[in-house]
Order: sequence, then structure tokens, then C-alpha cells
Amino acid sequence: MSQSALIVAKFGGTSVADFDAMNRSADIVLSRSDVKLVVLSASAGVTNLLVTLSEGQPVTVRQQLLEKLARIQYAIVDKLRAAVVIREEVSRILENIALLADKAALTPSACLADELVSHGELLSTLLFSEIIRERGVPVQWFDVRRVMKTSNRFGHAEPDIAALAELSDSVLTPLITESLVITQGFIGCEAGGLTTTLGRGGSDYTAALLGEALKAQRIDIWTDVQGIYTTDPRIVPTAKRIDEITFEEAAEMATFGARVLHPATLLPAVRNDIPVFVGSSQAPEGGGTIVYNQTRQQPLFRAVTLRRNQTLLTLHSLNMLHARGFLAEVFAILARHDISVDLVTTSEVSVALTLDTTGSTSHHGSLLTTGLLTELSSLCRVEVEENLSLVALIGNQLTQSQGIGKEVFGVMEQFSLRMICYGASNYNLCFLVPGNDAEHAVRTLHQHIFE
Ligand code: ASP
Ligand code: MG
Repeated sequence: MSQSALIVAKFGGTSVADFDAMNRSADIVLSRSDVKLVVLSASAGVTNLLVTLSEGQPVTVRQQLLEKLARIQYAIVDKLRAAVVIREEVSRILENIALLADKAALTPSACLADELVSHGELLSTLLFSEIIRERGVPVQWFDVRRVMKTSNRFGHAEPDIAALAELSDSVLTPLITESLVITQGFIGCEAGGLTTTLGRGGSDYTAALLGEALKAQRIDIWTDVQGIYTTDPRIVPTAKRIDEITFEEAAEMATFGARVLHPATLLPAVRNDIPVFVGSSQAPEGGGTIVYNQTRQQPLFRAVTLRRNQTLLTLHSLNMLHARGFLAEVFAILARHDISVDLVTTSEVSVALTLDTTGSTSHHGSLLTTGLLTELSSLCRVEVEENLSLVALIGNQLTQSQGIGKEVFGVMEQFSLRMICYGASNYNLCFLVPGNDAEHAVRTLHQHIFE
């Protein structure tokens, strides 16, 4: 049987932030007949409110947060034609949230937090479905927990891919052939029936997982930026949108600080060769970026990225001269302190490295505990430099092309570069500059290479 095209469209928090945003997103959905499944985040700010509530708050704070939440939701409800009916439903959900928030104030738990936080997506999908319905288009609200079975690692639950494929076939596919289906990103359900979440920002992952399960032709991610740019447009207003990019390049950009959707969340799309479109729901006609496994062109230079708050650790020891095992010892100490190293350069008697804070909420500097510094100091002389920024040039075949060093460092001659990493990866060349020079360095490099 030949199947018509199927696109999974995901809208992030800002794209469902209020009534107008939801209507813009509804326009996008309804103008693209191949969009059969819509995945939504909670309205902007809602997840943060719910997370704060789940941490257990005194009663007055609880009330303030609940009021804020109610204001966001009722502002949308009040503009619906069926406001009276929907208001009742929303107020029931808000009452339930209040109850759970009371519980969390007594005994907070990860399990309770997921239950609480899941209401953000339940509310946004309820309201968005109503907006579509009021346009006269048949629509079904779908509880994603019926198909998104996960482990019970609350807060970071792992989805059961095989179960999702099976349940999607039997439950979701029949619904999609009937009408448009609206469902929640981010949330799931463990074996005992308790609600779980896939981790903050997990809606992209949900969309990719559902795209995989339904063998979608494309996954559209609608957000508040018009795709991926050659550098951060807030730093360089003339940054150019990249029309097509590979998952690999996008991953490299994300790792080096670009605010692009993290390709790790798109793994299900990558492994099934499903293209992912990224665009702005505020300006859909402006187009966006398509992320593919393979693009027609793989330019030498793709983008310039910036990552701030870098700490450089330089370790000197004469014992290193012709010695064996010094680096092993240094890395063993860092591993014992649970620190993952980001960049490394070495000379005969010293090693310089930066600390990896991906996944860590703390500032680089606070990773350097007294315990760690004492242990390192017993081995060598330690120097710490803070407030550095990492500028990375992302591209392809960088180590196989001639003259790159001359070109890049020629442009950068006015800056003092504290560390340079080049050679380990074909996809990037990066260096540390003083934090105060960071934006200037990005502008200079971008202007020379892309403008
Ligand atoms: N609403 C969730 C969050 O803010 C999931 C998402 O938006 O992707 O983390
Ligand atoms: Mg989001």
C-alpha cells in the first residue's frame, strides 16, 4: 500500500507561549497537509514554574507560582470560543497541580517532580487541540504515555524504542490516518504506570523518536530562531543562515557552544536518515535549516562558535622531562574528582587543559575544589586562568587542507591566543582568548571567512 508523506512537527515553548503564538503555530500545521502528528512543549516558562514547585516551596511562594501559572493558561483559555468548557478542564488540572505542589512541599521526590512537571505539556496540548478544533479541523488529543514507555529513571527516563515502534503501529498509526493528532513532548510512562520525563528540553527527542517509530519523511522543529547560522546573530548581525548542514557539523557546533538544537536528541532521526528541518514559527515563510546525514556540499568552513567561562589549567613539572606516566597520573587525579577534560595541549614539561562543563550546571571555576588543587599541587606546579572564551571554527576536512593555519591565525594576529587546538578533529580548529576579547574575535574571524 502506498503511503502519503508523513511529517512530525514539533513546536517549542515559545511557539506555544500564548494565544497568538499558538495560532501562528496552528497556521503552520494547517497549511502543511503532510503534517499528521504535532508534538508540543509546555508554554514558555511553564516547565520552569513547575520544576520550582516540585522542589518544595513554602505556602506563600507556592501560591505566587500557581497564580503565575494560572495567568499564563487562562490568558489562552479566555480567547477560545469554548472558553467556559475548557476553563473547567484547565481549572481541574491546575487544582491537581496545586495538590501535587503541596505534596512536594512535604516530601519532594523525583517521581513526584515528573508527575508535576508533565502537566505543562498536558495543558499546552489541550489548549492547542482546541485552537485547531475551533478552526473547524478534526483533531485528536493523544496522551503520549500510551506509547512512550520508559525506564523509571525519573527526570532522565530512557525510552523503550521497541515498545514505541510496536505501540505506534497498533495505536498511533490508525489515529493518524483518521485525523491530525496532537501530543506531548518530553513525558513518558514507566512500567508501573507512573509518569516520567526524558530530561529538560526533551521534546525534540520525543519528536525524533516518534518520527522514527512512524517512519516519517521529515521532522520539523519549530522554534524562535530561523535555523542554524554561521555564527550567533546576536554577536554578528550579518551572520548567514545555513540552508543545509550535516548532523555531524551541527553536533560539532552544539558542542562548541552554538545555541542550536543538540543533535544528540536527534539520534533517532540520524540513525534512520530522516531529515530534520529547523525554522522559526514567528516567520515560517523565512525558511530554515535542514539537517541531513549527507549534504550536497561540505564547505571547508561552516561556522564560528563561542563558548564562554572557560578555565585553563596549566601544569608544569620538570619530572615530566623524559618521564613516563605523568599524564596518566594527572588524568587519574582528574577522573577521581569526576572532572572530564575538554581540550589538551602538551609540551615537554607542561600540560595545559580546559575543563568540560557540559552537563554541569556549575560555573567552570567551581569544579576546581581545594581537594583537587591540593592533589595536583603535590605532583606539579599548577596555574589557573579563568574568564577565558573558546572560539571554534567549525568546518570539514580541516586537517587535510593546506594554508588553514596561516589564514586563521593571520586574521587573529591582534589577539593573544592562550591555547590552540588543531589536528585532532577534521571538523574544528579552536583557540582560547581572554573573555573580554571574545566577541571581537568572533566578529573578526567571521568577517574574514564568511563575509
Ligand atoms: N518543556 C520541557 C522543558 O522545558 C521540554 C521541552 O520544552 O523540550 O524542558
Ligand atoms: Mg523547549
